[in-house]
Amino acid sequence: MTEATPTVHDVVIIGSGPSGYTAAVYAARAGLAPIVFAGSVTAGGALMNTTDVENFPGFPSGVLGPELMEKMQEQAERFGADVRYEDVTSVRLAGDIKTVTTEEGEDVLARAVILATGSAYKEMGLPEEKQFSGRGVSWCATCDGFFFKDQDILVVGGGDSAMEEALFLTRFGRTVTVVHRRDELRASKIMAERALNDPKITFAWNSEIVAIHGDAKVSGATLRDTVTGAMREVGASGIFVAIGHLPRTELLAGQIDLNSEGYVDVEHPSTRTNLPGVFAAGDVVDHHYRQAITAAGTGCAAALDAERYLAALD
Ligand code: FAD
Repeated sequence: MTEATPTVHDVVIIGSGPSGYTAAVYAARAGLAPIVFAGSVTAGGALMNTTDVENFPGFPSGVLGPELMEKMQEQAERFGADVRYEDVTSVRLAGDIKTVTTEEGEDVLARAVILATGSAYKEMGLPEEKQFSGRGVSWCATCDGFFFKDQDILVVGGGDSAMEEALFLTRFGRTVTVVHRRDELRASKIMAERALNDPKITFAWNSEIVAIHGDAKVSGATLRDTVTGAMREVGASGIFVAIGHLPRTELLAGQIDLNSEGYVDVEHPSTRTNLPGVFAAGDVVDHHYRQAITAAGTGCAAALDAERYLAALD
């Protein structure tokens, strides 16, 4: 008896954030019947951890993050995307046929793969951090700064992104205090100078947040002096954590070109990686904009790039 030939799918998409689902809508509408590996616990991506999203076009009164992601999934499935709530545990991306292996040990074969695994925001590691996510604790000033008009804001971090967040937040906050563990900034000279010279920004040097307080929303934090160990309470309704990001590229180690910060390298403005038939979109590529709409935009581009790649093979 001869063994059945395994099915080779046109497109597998890894990730179910705005980039993965947008890629799925486009690929499905192009008749490519994409399989979307959504992840087992984090399906829907980063926006599942937030409440109001006010800057995604098409929702003039805003939309809850999880609701937006449900709608994207529904839209992708309407055109035939096959969404599977499984983690991909390994991939083999070289060659004409790519293999994507799931946590169940199943090998799924495809001619094209779209990587849309996003990036994780580094957390401070406090138990209350998740509880107050979207309720005062945020990782994105562009997304959430607007909610903190005339309020007291803490920004955690000492690098360029923390300075960028702090400077941006001066448009909204009554006060902006940068909480930094050391007595000098890691940020580039120009960003540090801008922040140090901004009259609205003050610095809590040698300080770290050890507890977040509040009921339904954040009302303050306990800061520990990293030199003396002394504790003090500060009032604040917003805490912006800007201590870095971790692109989710663990699957790709040794297989695909990454940049010096670990993000997937693509041939801008396309979404092509260094491997033919492998495309990447969203926050796993983008360490600059990190927005749902930019992730969705590159997800669209990845599906179009994959479609053209497959058409050229046929
Ligand atoms: P993600 O949304 O991170 O999705 C990545 C997906 O990949 C996840 O579904 C994950 O499960 C999956 N995945 C990863 N590894 C695997 C694997 N091995 N197998 C299977 N699946 C895998 N942006 C805005 O524009 N407006 C906002 O108001 C806003 N608010 C935010 C609030 C919070 C709290 C956070 C964290 C982010 C916010 N953002 C906001 C940013 C926005 O969420 C991201 O820019 C966007 O989600 C990135 O989309 P993505 O598709 O690239 O990745």
